[in-house]
Amino acid sequence: RAKQTGRNAVQFYAPHMNAHATDRLALEGALRGALREDQFELHFQPQVELGSGRVVGTEALIRWRHPQFGTVRPERFIALAEETGLIVPIGAWVLRAACRQNVHWQRAGLGQLRIGVNLSARQFSEPDLVQTVRQVLDETGLPPDSLEIELTESMMMADIEAAIETMRCLKTMGVKLSIDDFGTGYSSLSYLRRLPVDVLKIDRSFVRDIAGSADGAAMVGAIISLAHGLRKQVIAEGVETLAQLDYLRGCGCDEVQGHIFSRPEPVHAVERLLRQGRAEPVPLQA
Ligand code: C2E
Ligand code: MG
Ligand code: MG
Ligand code: MG
Repeated sequence: RAKQTGRNAVQFYAPHMNAHATDRLALEGALRGALREDQFELHFQPQVELGSGRVVGTEALIRWRHPQFGTVRPERFIALAEETGLIVPIGAWVLRAACRQNVHWQRAGLGQLRIGVNLSARQFSEPDLVQTVRQVLDETGLPPDSLEIELTESMMMADIEAAIETMRCLKTMGVKLSIDDFGTGYSSLSYLRRLPVDVLKIDRSFVRDIAGSADGAAMVGAIISLAHGLRKQVIAEGVETLAQLDYLRGCGCDEVQGHIFSRPEPVHAVERLLRQGRAEPVPLQA
């Protein structure tokens, strides 16, 4: 019976949905079980340097391998994990597993690959975040500059001074920082100058608009110029077509991540690509 409720919760819980308390409770219980029973797994999506075509890193993306319901995507459970605080142990697991995997690849001679790890707001404001990151780096032996922590604008805006302080601590350790989903938050441009980040990841909603309208294309070009003017690198997310790829290349975008090169894949599948070292664009549509 509990399993049945859990199933409904997994299928129907969404961030802004007024899910029934019983479903939420069931999903919370299922999430605790998932941690205990080791049901989380990471998929990895390659990031390709546009100039060289080389795969220079991957982003780690969590999946929940539920014994009955199959692979559950993060949209289904991250929001509740965040509300319940379960994201803290889940996030620590992600960080450790991602760093460990990346060290493994580096030691296997696959290059100085970088690994991107998403943080949630709750994790970012935990007092011992910096300590956790330091510990994971020590424990796994990953070179700090091979780790790129992805933050979002909204998680910084709650308390910008505290956020900058935390970011400085991470930077001092040598870790790279990026702003994920850039352009979708509410931060003002004046803050961007002050944020000690290395990389802007252009949200895929902007990339989608490249071909649709001159305005959409102009936005992407402007973000890239802005980033480079501030001496930051740019990764475009959600690239699916050759038209998008060509436009981004023309704008001097540094790296691309998207289905055109690869979907997020489990370890064994992404390793094939990492061994090749390069990725060929295979557009979803002409
Ligand atoms: P994100 O960090 O912006 O990750 C990129 C998302 O875009 C991934 O969805 C990826 O599969 C998807 N994507 C990549 N290329 C394309 C493309 O060409 N077309 C389309 N349509 N989609 C593309 P995913 O894996 O479902 O993750 C969704 C979000 O869940 C992530 O967005 C991130 O915010 C969150 N998330 C994932 N893993 C973690 C985690 O370990 N911790 C936390 N806190 N959040 C995570
Ligand atoms: Mg991300
Ligand atoms: Mg994210
Ligand atoms: Mg993103």
